[in-house]
Amino acid sequence: MHELSLCEGLLELLEEQSRRHAFHRVTRIKLAVGQFACVDPDALRFAFDVIRRDTLADGATVDIHQPPGLVWCEDCAREREVPTRIAPCPACGGLRLTPRGGDDLTLVELEVA
Ligand SMILES: [Zn+2]
Repeated sequence: MHELSLCEGLLELLEEQSRRHAFHRVTRIKLAVGQFACVDPDALRFAFDVIRRDTLADGATVDIHQPPGLVWCEDCAREREVPTRIAPCPACGGLRLTPRGGDDLTLVELEVA
């Protein structure tokens, strides 16, 4: 499962941060999942619940939000928000679109104890 490997990566990141900044518990995690990342937030939450047992992130509140996907439209010569990667430009219907991010999982905020 895609979400599971993302969560493993996230946990490694948290452990690395805890060593660097000398904290032992994570109380809140805020994540941004790009609209194009092909990640289901519910599946991500579920996978993280499984993987974090008996780790520093056990019991932490997890906030996941999904910023809109951004593309550059060649025809409008403007940046547009699109709901999916295969959607046409919402303004002109054009298909000459270049993704501008939105395909990754980002750790936005971390509260620790
Ligand atoms: Zn356009």
